[in-house]
Amino acid sequence: MILEHFALLIQVQSLDKKIGSHLKNISIQEERVISLQKARSLREKQLAEDQETKEKLKAELGQKEKELFEKDQLIARSLERQKTASTEAQCKAIENEFAQFMPQKEKLEIEVYALLEKQEALEQTIKDHEIFLAGSLKTLSEIQKEVDLHTQKDKEEIQILEERIKIDLDSAPPSIKNIWNDLSKKFRFNSPLSFVENGVCLECRYSVGRNTENQIEKGGVIEFCPNCKRLLAPKKRV
Ligand SMILES: [Zn+2]
Repeated sequence: MILEHFALLIQVQSLDKKIGSHLKNISIQEERVISLQKARSLREKQLAEDQETKEKLKAELGQKEKELFEKDQLIARSLERQKTASTEAQCKAIENEFAQFMPQKEKLEIEVYALLEKQEALEQTIKDHEIFLAGSLKTLSEIQKEVDLHTQKDKEEIQILEERIKIDLDSAPPSIKNIWNDLSKKFRFNSPLSFVENGVCLECRYSVGRNTENQIEKGGVIEFCPNCKRLLAPKKRV
């Protein structure tokens, strides 16, 4: 490979590296949108689950309240009968009813109270989800606008750089273009080309030897680092 082509690939590598940093900027910006979207979808899921739980709770509460109402009616009836009870056996029977009903009523009251508390807490949680979702929807569209604004410049720069790379590569023989394309698949944004200094590959520190270094510096050879497989380019520029 002639020195001129090495210079061209070094130039392409440096342009492509710039694309890499623009892409990084874009992804950092877009991460802001993505992380908020993730938080929102998590909340939406929680909201749906909590609403389902609320429905179940409502049904359970309705059932307990009905049982409590029926228990109260039974107790009221016993009280009525107590007024007219005349025999000891009747009084005893009514006392037995009270002894049976009262603990049941108390138990139901405790259960209803606990369910009401649970319902109240759940309603607050649901309200919190709704407030978050409404607020973050507004934030999301604001962030999206900011991100679009910030990434616009990067996207334009990338387009210009891609054009320049294309022009450079098109000016080189197809074999040079192929070498770049192959290297780029493995090492894109990670120095596809490496230099040798004191017999050592500067990217991976593998010792390629002084002889290889001398040959590379003269140009005319295509050498890849035996360790990292990068193309070894001469340091001196055309
Ligand atoms: Zn190497």
